[in-house]
Parts: sequence; C-alpha cells; structure tokens
Amino acid sequence: MLHCLGVIRYFGISDVGCSRNSNEDAFALEPELGLFMVADGMGGAQAGELASSIAVDTVVSCVREALPARTVENLVAAIRAANTAILQQASENADFQGMGTTVVSVLLNPPAAYVGSVGDSRLYLARGGKLGRITSDQTWVNDVGRSLGLSEEQIRTHPFRNVLTMAVGARERIEVRSHELSLEPGDLLLLCSDGLHGVVDEVGLTETLRSPNSLAQKASTLIRLARRRGGPDNITAVLVQVETGDG
Ligand code: CA
Repeated sequence: MLHCLGVIRYFGISDVGCSRNSNEDAFALEPELGLFMVADGMGGAQAGELASSIAVDTVVSCVREALPARTVENLVAAIRAANTAILQQASENADFQGMGTTVVSVLLNPPAAYVGSVGDSRLYLARGGKLGRITSDQTWVNDVGRSLGLSEEQIRTHPFRNVLTMAVGARERIEVRSHELSLEPGDLLLLCSDGLHGVVDEVGLTETLRSPNSLAQKASTLIRLARRRGGPDNITAVLVQVETGDG
C-alpha cells in the first residue's frame, strides 16, 4: 500500500520550571519553512535569554533567505551564522561576554528531515512505539566519560553531566553535528532541552509520546512530568508529527 507524507502537525511549549526565576530556553515553530528548533541559553544576567533568542532569530532568517533550497548545508550554515551573531553581540557589551546557547533544529524537506545540533538539547524520533535518540550530546560525559567506560546510568547522574563541550557563541569555530532522516508516516519528533531529558527518563518520554493524546496534551504531560521531578531547570518541548497522507 502506498503512503505519502501528508500534513505536518506541531506543538511547542516552554516552562520556567520550579526553581529558576527566568526562562533562558527559546523555540521556533516555522511550518512554512519546515523549520522547528529549540535553543537553551546560558550566561549571567539576561545573557542566556539573549543568546537563545539570537540563535532562533538568526537560524529562522537564514533558512528563510535560502529558500526554496532546503538542505542540511543550509541548516548548518544558519547555525554558524547564529554563532557569529552571538559572538558579535558579546563583543559589543561586557555584560554579555561568555553567553552561549545550545541548538537543536530540524529542517523538513519530506521525506527527508535534516537535523543540526550543538550542545545537549536533543532530538528524539518516536516510530512504531519505540523511541530513538537522533542527536548525540556535546557534553563532557558523552564525549569523554563514555570513552572512559561510564555506564548510561553514570552518564545520567554524573556531576559533570551538564558540562558542555560545545555551544553556539562559545568560540569562532564550532562543530555543528548534522544528521539526515528519512521520515515515515506517523513519525513523531521531539526536540527538547535538558530540563526535560535530564529529568524525565526515556521510559517516561516513550510512554507519553505513545499515548493517544493530542500533541498539546502530550507536551503538557512532558512539562508536568519534569515539574513533578523537581523541575530544576527550564523545560522546553517541541513536537512535530508527520501524518499519513490520503494519496
Ligand atoms: Ca537547560
């Protein structure tokens, strides 16, 4: 039987969590561009919020300028442009020095989906009731600890688990990790900050995404689960679902 990729449904939500005063996460839902992203900013004062918002604005505008081309190279170039923009802002104002942000982004060009990421915000793919992690964290525990033989559980609870080895805005040359997926009808993508995936385990994520609820309900459940586990950080989740077409 022939399926084609039809309607794309999406929903995004961000929550300050239970112990932070401000929300340094940002996200973008740009269905006309086929672009969805999450950025988790860091830095003193309001610098984290500025970094994540510059990243979102720059990636959106660069992807828009590159249309009608939608390629993984364009997505990576857009993230590099965000890096330059953040460094530029930081160089002009001492309050913003050292600011940076993660980025996880998906550019849809069905059936392809291009993924670009920096830092530890993640993309998961739920397909056929199973959850797969697409991105790999640029963190000390993942890049170094794993090669030292740390277990998954040790990686999840290690005191260095939040130490990034790469961030947008950190330096002039950054490593952007990219992937290419081939989407299938029914696929559900979850982009999220570590305020979600660092708190809610993959069993909790899988069960929530597998439920028959709407995307909005699933997203609210994810936020609720993270808050119930203490909500130590800002929590952001973007869901993108590929529906089965009629044709
Ligand atoms: Ca965070």
